[in-house]
Amino acid sequence: MANYVCPVARYTKLETNTPRGLAFIYSLVAGNLKKIDKVAVERTYQCNLCRACEAISRDDSSIPELILAARRDIVEMNMAPESVMKLKDDICKNSRLLDKDWLESAVSSAKSLPDTVVVINYESESSKKIFLLIKKLLDRGNTGCIEINIGKHPAPAAMLDELGYKQLSGTVLNNLTFLIQNLKFKKMVFITPYDLELLLKTSTVDAGLSKLVHSFEFCEGFINSEKKTPAKKNEKIIYIDSGGNRKSGKFYEIPRKLLADSAGLNIQEMVWNGKESACCGGLTLQYLYPGIFNGVISLIYGELKEYGSKKIITPCPHCIDNLKTNEDLRNNYEIVDLWEMIFQ
Ligand code: SF4
Repeated sequence: MANYVCPVARYTKLETNTPRGLAFIYSLVAGNLKKIDKVAVERTYQCNLCRACEAISRDDSSIPELILAARRDIVEMNMAPESVMKLKDDICKNSRLLDKDWLESAVSSAKSLPDTVVVINYESESSKKIFLLIKKLLDRGNTGCIEINIGKHPAPAAMLDELGYKQLSGTVLNNLTFLIQNLKFKKMVFITPYDLELLLKTSTVDAGLSKLVHSFEFCEGFINSEKKTPAKKNEKIIYIDSGGNRKSGKFYEIPRKLLADSAGLNIQEMVWNGKESACCGGLTLQYLYPGIFNGVISLIYGELKEYGSKKIITPCPHCIDNLKTNEDLRNNYEIVDLWEMIFQ
């Protein structure tokens, strides 16, 4: 029943890319009727783990969890494709959360204070822009704001988990917990949602988790508690949902509330929105299967052409970076973050 939401299958039109097709492959393998072969491995890594199939499931079954388990088995059997191993090495090399010396110096040099807001950021022009805007707004109210740049990738723990390297992903989360426990801060804001969601799902320690917030939640808190009223804008925009925790309504409700109620914008919804949204291509697909990744983004572009608005809003800079990989989207649309749309 979930096949119709799968963006990968909508693009490839292959039964073996659908959630049902993947579940069927695994049932054959589990029943010893089929061996894991090259095609099964490819299909397993071609899912972009958008979790739309899980979100609309009529019971508590989860195809994405089966896919993650299959990936862990594939890694254990040394059958991971070269592109998977290459990406794993790149994440390990370029993620500061795996660098013990960096972690120690981040804790000792970030003279953070109990009333400082710490923004977890990564190397991206889009995310830098959002951080600078948040900092400027907080500075006006005399609240300190510092950035912790974790390196090249937006969510190394979630990416390693997606690739099937659970232990390495756990190390990143432990190191993130070390940062959280050793820094003093008022709030820690995550510019992209993936690692925070994984931490909240798996953490067994109380590491000040209640002070950790997503960028869109912090935006809502900023408007409410600091009594900042955005200027009302009478403009039509297209809203594209980010990935993240599809079981939590807040991912869909808060950004819409901010854009419509607080900023007065007229939201054009995508046909595939909320729990059914295609998301922006996710975290790892662009490195593993760029052709399919481009295909998923081109499906989004095809739909956008119907709407007569040239402004797209997303709540995550990684969505902006992914959408901008498409030349047509880059040249014909203005793609901006929630913070920017509301406060710039
Ligand atoms: S997680 Fe997304 S891409 Fe993967 S099978 Fe489900 S709907 Fe398709």
